[in-house]
Amino acid sequence: MFEQRNHLIWDILTDEMLDAVLIFGLPNIRYLCGFTGTDGVLLIKPNEAVFLTDSRYFDQAKNQVKADRVICYNNKLKAIADELTVCCGRQIGFDAAVVSVALFEELSEALGDSFHLCGLSRKLLPLRGVKSLDELAALKAAAKLNCQAFERVVPLIRAGVTEREIALELEYTLKRLGGEANAFDFIVASGVRGALPHGVASDKRLFDGELVTIDFGTRIDGYHSDETVTVAIGEVDRKLRQIFDIVLEAHDSALETIQPGMAICDLDAVARDFIVSKGFGEYFGHGLGHGVGLEVHEYPAVSSRSDQNLVEGMVITIEPGIYVPELGGVRIEDTVVVTEDGFEALTSIPKQFRQLSL
Ligand code: ZN
Ligand code: ZN
Repeated sequence: MFEQRNHLIWDILTDEMLDAVLIFGLPNIRYLCGFTGTDGVLLIKPNEAVFLTDSRYFDQAKNQVKADRVICYNNKLKAIADELTVCCGRQIGFDAAVVSVALFEELSEALGDSFHLCGLSRKLLPLRGVKSLDELAALKAAAKLNCQAFERVVPLIRAGVTEREIALELEYTLKRLGGEANAFDFIVASGVRGALPHGVASDKRLFDGELVTIDFGTRIDGYHSDETVTVAIGEVDRKLRQIFDIVLEAHDSALETIQPGMAICDLDAVARDFIVSKGFGEYFGHGLGHGVGLEVHEYPAVSSRSDQNLVEGMVITIEPGIYVPELGGVRIEDTVVVTEDGFEALTSIPKQFRQLSL
C-alpha cells in the first residue's frame, strides 16, 4: 500500500526533474509512511525513503513507519541537510502548502547554496484525493458513529437546553462509541445564531419555534466524519420552513447530479443556481463542499472556483446553506463517495424536515 502511494511521489520526482522530496505535512506523512505522531519529516529519494524524527517518537516510528530507514535527530534541519548531502542532486521539492515562511527560511539557511528548494503545493494537492477501500472503511465507520450518536442525543434537543450542552453530549457520546477525537469544534447554532455559518456552540438556550443547525464529526483511524442536520424545535414560521425546503432540494439535486468526470464547478452550480432562482443566492456565501479524509477539510474543494473534475473514489461533502441575518439559517450536509455511476452516502442521519417535540 505505502509502496503504491510512494509511486505518486516518484512520478512527481521524474516529472519535475527533482532529486528528492521533503514532506513536512503530518497528514501526507501519515498517508505516505504510516507515522501517526506529531513531529517528523519524510525524505523521499528515487531509490529510498527516509523518515526522520526526534527521540520522543523514535521507538514508535521504528515499529510504525514504512520507510527504508528511520533516523533519530537532535537538530531537525541539520539532519535534513546531512541526509540531502549524501543524496547528491540539488533540486529538492517540498510540500509548500504546509511549510511556514519561517521554516522555509530556516531550511534554506541550513541547506546553503548547494540546494534549490522547489515548492510543490499544486502538484501534491491531489495526492490523497482518491480513497482506497481501507480509507473508505474508516470514513464509513466514522460516519456511522455520527448517526448513532445523533440518535442517542436527539431526546436532549428541546427548548431550554443550551447549545453547549448539546455539543458536549454529542462529543461524549461519540467518544463513548469509539470516536478518537472531535473532527472540529462542533457547530450548534439555534434561532438567529443559525445565520452564522460557523456558529460554534454557545450558552444560548433553545426556544420553541427555532431551527437548530448542528454540524459535527469524529475520527476513526485518522479519518473524519462531517455531517450537518438542521432540526426544528416545535412549530417554526413559514419563512424558516421555506428556507429549509430550498436547502434540502438544493442538497438532494446536487447529490443526484454527482458523476465521475463532471466538472466540480458544475456540481456547485446545481445547488447554487437553484438557491439563486429562489431568491436566496446572496445568503449562500460558501462553497458547496470539500474533500474529507485524514483532514476534515481537504482536496478537492467543491466550489465555483474549482477547475478539477470529480473522480471515482473521491470523498466529498455536499452542504448547501442559507443564512439570513436576524432570522436564522439552515445547512444540510452529507459526506459521500463518488462511485462509478453516481455516489454512495457515507453519512446517514435522515435529512428530511424533522420537528422535535418541546
Ligand atoms: Zn460540517
Ligand atoms: Zn463540511
